[in-house]
Amino acid sequence: MRNLRPFAAIAALAGTAALYSATNNSIRGFDAASAAVEARWEEAARAVPESGRVRRVMEKLSNQAHLAGTPQSKEAAEYLLAQLREFGLDAHIEQYEAMLPQPKSRLLEMTVNGKVFTAKLNEPAVDEDKNSKDPGMVPTFNAYSGDGDVKAPLVYVNYGVPADYETLAAKGIDVKGKIVIARYGGSWRGIKPKVAAEHGAVGCLIYSDPRDDGYFQGDVYPKGPFRPRDGVQRGSVMDMVLYPGDPLSPGWASEPGSKRLTIPEASTLMKIPVMPISYADALPLLENLDGPVAPEAWRGALPITYHMGPGTGTVHFKLEMDNATRPLYDVIATIKGSEFPDQWILFGNHHDAWVHGADDPLSGVSAQLETARSLATLTRQGWKPKRTIMMAFWDGEEYGLVGSTEFMEKHADELNQKLVTYINSDSTANGRIGAGGSHTLETFVKEILRDIPDVDSNKSLLDAAVAPRTTPRRNGTAAPTEFHLSPLGSGSDYTPFLQHLGIASLNVGFDAETGGGIYHSNYDDFYWYSHFSDKDFTHGPALAKVTATAVLRLANAPLLPFEFGRLTASISTYLDEIEKLPNQKTKLDLTAVRAELKKLQKSSADLEKAWGAANTKLSTASPQKLAAINQILFQSERNLTLDPGLPGRPWFRHRIYAPGKYTGYAVKTLPGIREAVELNQPQEAVEQSKQVVQVLATLGGQLEQAAKLLGAL
Ligand SMILES: [Zn+2]
Repeated sequence: MRNLRPFAAIAALAGTAALYSATNNSIRGFDAASAAVEARWEEAARAVPESGRVRRVMEKLSNQAHLAGTPQSKEAAEYLLAQLREFGLDAHIEQYEAMLPQPKSRLLEMTVNGKVFTAKLNEPAVDEDKNSKDPGMVPTFNAYSGDGDVKAPLVYVNYGVPADYETLAAKGIDVKGKIVIARYGGSWRGIKPKVAAEHGAVGCLIYSDPRDDGYFQGDVYPKGPFRPRDGVQRGSVMDMVLYPGDPLSPGWASEPGSKRLTIPEASTLMKIPVMPISYADALPLLENLDGPVAPEAWRGALPITYHMGPGTGTVHFKLEMDNATRPLYDVIATIKGSEFPDQWILFGNHHDAWVHGADDPLSGVSAQLETARSLATLTRQGWKPKRTIMMAFWDGEEYGLVGSTEFMEKHADELNQKLVTYINSDSTANGRIGAGGSHTLETFVKEILRDIPDVDSNKSLLDAAVAPRTTPRRNGTAAPTEFHLSPLGSGSDYTPFLQHLGIASLNVGFDAETGGGIYHSNYDDFYWYSHFSDKDFTHGPALAKVTATAVLRLANAPLLPFEFGRLTASISTYLDEIEKLPNQKTKLDLTAVRAELKKLQKSSADLEKAWGAANTKLSTASPQKLAAINQILFQSERNLTLDPGLPGRPWFRHRIYAPGKYTGYAVKTLPGIREAVELNQPQEAVEQSKQVVQVLATLGGQLEQAAKLLGAL
């Protein structure tokens, strides 16, 4: 009976086959017969997403501020729940609670020669943009800042990364006992107050310089998309490179009545007060600095001579946070698998926003809802996923991946056993498709992009992603000529799944064609998005098609499409990079790592050979035998994790990908080895190399086992 099913399914669809232009492409993990069935269902799924719906959902949910922990965030969750249920999906809300602070009072003044300047700390309304007048606007603040009431001289520290303090020291400037002002850029924002506090500063201000984020880049809002003079970038300053999620419940779910650390015990809370400000508020502060003229690389685009400070003025910075516990609402929809209900595919996007959040996160949410509607439509047409599909709309991402981390901690054992892949999306725009993730999924992602047309050209998404650019990229780097998944650091909800549990993960979205500067401000709203980003709402549905296809393939593949050649090639590149790192006093010997990697390459090649031979037998193979092989394949990423985790941050267990200790969002590949070399800790580097050898050996053994089982199909 089983053998006949794919053919029966084709027969059932034959009447409508003419409607679809099923691709003739092979799909990894499917044989010809099952691929043909799969292609037809994928076409049906991709016919569902609609621009009008994406637009309406964004408009509806961005109509009010919906910061995590507020009643408006609960309303957003309840709206999503109602939508999912209307589609016919089984959905519920999982409630957590966490420390989600809001400011009680904020004051920033500078006194120079008896004259007092008081910062506005407010983003005014823009005439043509009705949402910018929203009275429920969220104050400008950094989540998890310390409290403080400090009066001190001010020092300009450029981006506020460790190298900047070396430059200051060379000029004889010490920030001890002073307040520092850093510009956004050069690192994740949480690194700036952390490094400032390490150097003895008593307060930290972070401003958006127009050179990086404002009029130097292009016309400012509402004339253009760039940050206006009063625009402020809110954001979390949790020390997320130690662990994300509720600072008071590291490693366990934060629910009513559960155990909590005290505030002094929580290592991810910032100790000094820190606050984001606009360039309008920063200008008088920077203008009144004395001391050496800042090096050229430090100078922004304000109409002043940039000095490093301090000056004759005194800054008074007072900040009081309420440090309150507030509720979180994760929305979860489930389609139960018909054959392997204990193998799960999870797709998530956060729903909480700093203010209105049209771009971040509703551009992703509105597309994800269309993915959900596609899958719901298919189930009504008789489609049954073999594996269980779960879709999550997370709360509390902006505070520090809180809703997803608490969910992961609550279900860690079950996720460890059952979760095949985590797929993430977040803000999405109007440019090219971009994807990051586990290298074992690179072939899988390439095939999906090969099979979906681009919005702006007659190419596939895959070809469009690597087509030469007519305009130079904003960061000045050359366009890639070959599609690769970029390794993941942090900055969205994949982190708890990938870097703590070791679940193969993906992050997908369209990048921004023109850029723009309303990130985490009051102006990230429907007016901005519908004038300056995906104006015709064509890329949102395209993202829904990409994620629906990814979910469908993973849910129904006879063999899960993991591939290990790209992993070994990438690790080899990372080792080359580490060898070339500058200023190595003791040259690290990577011979053992390279030898083990060579063995893993051989195991991976053996698996590919067995895969090729078994590919014609997939429709006739026993489901139990396939399940055993799939178990090894999807658990493979777990082999790349190790306890305890990385030095000084045991929560981060993955040996190939981690956010950098001093970069924040930006990835460090082979993080244990790389950071030890960067910090000139040769003994630690040797120890970390041994651990990498260990994980590669474990993975190699598993691949050999999978090859053997495939050979016996
Ligand atoms: Zn986001």
